[in-house]
Amino acid sequence: MSDDLFLKIIQREIDADIVYETDELLAFRDINPQAPTHILIIPKEHIRTLDDLQADHAGLVGRMVLAAAEIAREQGLAQDGYRLVVNCREAGGQMVYHIHLHLLGGRQMTWPPG
Ligand code: 5GP
Repeated sequence: MSDDLFLKIIQREIDADIVYETDELLAFRDINPQAPTHILIIPKEHIRTLDDLQADHAGLVGRMVLAAAEIAREQGLAQDGYRLVVNCREAGGQMVYHIHLHLLGGRQMTWPPG
């Protein structure tokens, strides 16, 4: 998989079903959904992994989480609940090296995750 496929989505070089956009964030539907609703929330800034975050990213990360909660409400997930996931590097299952939140909802989640 491309090292930073998501930059191509930000730059509109690859199509995506975009559900939310601000100056600094973009959210779009996952191409291979793992739940009835599966949306990825990304910063437009290129940050490779969770482990690359710096202290001055704290506000950005906070706004990513708040955006996820807002999108969850818009998608009708808030009442039943939903899950946010960040995969970090190989053992965490990360495939695309541009940090993203997975917003998953519309079915009962299980624990532990695979
Ligand atoms: P990761 O495994 O890195 O946490 O998640 C990457 C996610 O990106 C996967 O759920 C995968 O289905 C999704 N994905 C990969 N390529 C594309 C694409 O071209 N478009 C969209 N919308 N999602 C993609």
